[in-house]
Amino acid sequence: MKLFDKNGNTMVEVYKLERRDDDLVMQTNILESMPVDVYVKPAEFWRLLRLAMKSGVISYVPAFFCKAWARRKEQAVTKEAPAKPKAEAKTAEAHKVAATPSKTATPTSVPVIKDAAPLAKGEYDIIIVGAGNNGLIVGAYLAKAGLKTCVIESRGFVGGGVVTLEATVPGFKHDLGATAALWIDQNPIIKNDELGLIKNYGLKFLPVPEVQEVIIFPDDRAIIIYHDLDKTCASIAKISTKDADQFHKYVEWATPFFKPVLRGSNMPPAPFGSFITMLSNSSKGKELIHTMFSSAYDAVNDWFVSDEMKITATRWAAQSRVSPYESGTAEGIVFMAPYSVLFGAKPIEGGAGRFTECLAAAIKDFGGEIRLNAKVKQVLVSGNTAEGVILENGETVKARRGVVMGLNIKQIFPAMTPGVQLPDGFVRDVQHLKPQRAQYLTWHAAIHNAPKYKAGGDVDRGFQVQTFPTSNYQEYLDGLTEMYRGKPKWNSPGIICSTIFDPSRAPKGKHTLWVAQQEPYYVEGGPQQWDKIGQKVRDGILATIQQHTTNMDASNIIAEKLLTPLDYSRWDEAWIDGEPSHIGGYLTQYMSNRPLPGWSGYKMPVDKLYLCGPSTHPGTGLNAGARAPANVIMKDLGIEFDKVI
Ligand SMILES: Cc1cc2nc3c(=O)[nH]c(=O)nc-3n(C[C@H](O)[C@H](O)[C@H](O)COP(=O)(O)OP(=O)(O)OC[C@H]3O[C@@H](n4cnc5c(N)ncnc54)[C@H](O)[C@@H]3O)c2cc1C
Repeated sequence: MKLFDKNGNTMVEVYKLERRDDDLVMQTNILESMPVDVYVKPAEFWRLLRLAMKSGVISYVPAFFCKAWARRKEQAVTKEAPAKPKAEAKTAEAHKVAATPSKTATPTSVPVIKDAAPLAKGEYDIIIVGAGNNGLIVGAYLAKAGLKTCVIESRGFVGGGVVTLEATVPGFKHDLGATAALWIDQNPIIKNDELGLIKNYGLKFLPVPEVQEVIIFPDDRAIIIYHDLDKTCASIAKISTKDADQFHKYVEWATPFFKPVLRGSNMPPAPFGSFITMLSNSSKGKELIHTMFSSAYDAVNDWFVSDEMKITATRWAAQSRVSPYESGTAEGIVFMAPYSVLFGAKPIEGGAGRFTECLAAAIKDFGGEIRLNAKVKQVLVSGNTAEGVILENGETVKARRGVVMGLNIKQIFPAMTPGVQLPDGFVRDVQHLKPQRAQYLTWHAAIHNAPKYKAGGDVDRGFQVQTFPTSNYQEYLDGLTEMYRGKPKWNSPGIICSTIFDPSRAPKGKHTLWVAQQEPYYVEGGPQQWDKIGQKVRDGILATIQQHTTNMDASNIIAEKLLTPLDYSRWDEAWIDGEPSHIGGYLTQYMSNRPLPGWSGYKMPVDKLYLCGPSTHPGTGLNAGARAPANVIMKDLGIEFDKVI
């Protein structure tokens, strides 16, 4: 059943209605956005339906009529436009020849271009600025659709924050940004291999490590989060039997939220108000609202009793570099607890950068181009329409159908759009967007032997290991607060030794180490201090690792590389103040509030100018969030996404 508004747009679609005990479970989405299971009483369901119809703005059409109508429409289209596919196949063929792609993948022959005026020499259908993982995803889908696509990147390599480089000595492959693949394999780009990255380019997600996360306390006691609920609870029980029991209940309670939230991250976000209204119509939805507005601190105190378990759970929220005291952070725990236990983070064979390398290869094979070492200075705007970009060297590159910015929204407005008439207050609101409370410092080492932890047992098999300087919850929170205020830290590094799971990343028998510590960009004395104190902080981090291991002395280290928050701000221009998320993941900058309320649909206030990447929903990460803007752009161009994939 579908509910339409008076303009014929779908408001709510109910796929399935099922009775479960006293509830009706509606499998539904709103505004073609976020599919969810909604639990309502039968009476509530009919009351809602009556309300919707009575209001006069909504009418409902039973599924049968919808389907019949859709079938009729399909027939009409086929009848009216029999010759189109041939013409499109020709366009796609021309792109292939122009770029002399390999035989691996070819663009899809779908009806793409209605006004078939040929492009001028050097002109593209679409320009994408920034070859971060999101820019590349948009580029690959659009090139696959047969559009003449060019990705323009200022650095000499693709990948943005998803790159694997031999950054220490040859043969040792280091992920300099993202390293753990989280739920990207649940996204259709991977799940259905929509771009052929697995089949044609050998992209491979390694099996989920059984020991997902290890939390080590000062006395080397550890809580282990396994890819198994019972084993995790047994580990927690060594510290608190009450919390082991509570964690079991917690995961059971949180799991139903996981899939809908995950699916929502693959689509344009529903308007915040409608989303909340819809949730408020069911008991489970009301619980989600409560959680969405709660702080991690409050949620943790509601559920757990031991300080160690409170630290473990708060870490799930705090690792997104937002203070656990902030409203909205409880959702991080709701999402990550079932995720780690039931799904699990995993490495990509050969390094996370394989993902972006495969995307780049696919773009070329689909007939697209990637220009490296080409920095975009300005968007070329005529009237209020984006027509291309101007590079730093003065060159103009034109785009007929759209310019997609895979950059930080703060880079674009106003600096890249001089003289453009923007809505009142827009630039002010962009400049007021807030970064996370802390950024990353990373230390990468080529080592002889994988770390041997004093905690022993399964800890050495841990995928992500984090040490804490205290097992007192309040002290832990105070330490975070001090760090957010500008005090550098070295006592809580997150350590990943991917070569335990993926020997291909180092010469035989050797290992790579990825160590990340949250740090303030605005450190005491100002960000420039990082050039002075970086080495001291690195020494502190190594001393902390040595405290918890038996073999991490200097003789185990072959070579190393340090990146401070200041280095990151220089490394990727989109990371203003060292911020890989572009803007923070606060409730006010989240879902349809991202980047700003009213501008969450990937379209910017200039015609044919789009935004993708961490500045947009679903935010930061190696998460293929840019599949959604690719979909939106195709829709604007009259291309059927389903036919392209
Ligand atoms: C240390 C660290 C660890 C992380 N760990 C994880 C993890 O384990 N898992 C996870 O999911 N995420 C992780 N992340 C986050 C993830 O790396 C980023 O969220 C993600 O890479 C950002 O998305 P992106 O690649 O699309 O954008 P960006 O990285 O912002 O890409 C922007 C691109 O645009 C280019 N550019 C900038 N300005 C211009 C210009 N003027 N002209 C042309 N090109 C330009 C840049 O060079 C860059 O290539 C981590 C980040 C860091 C820093």
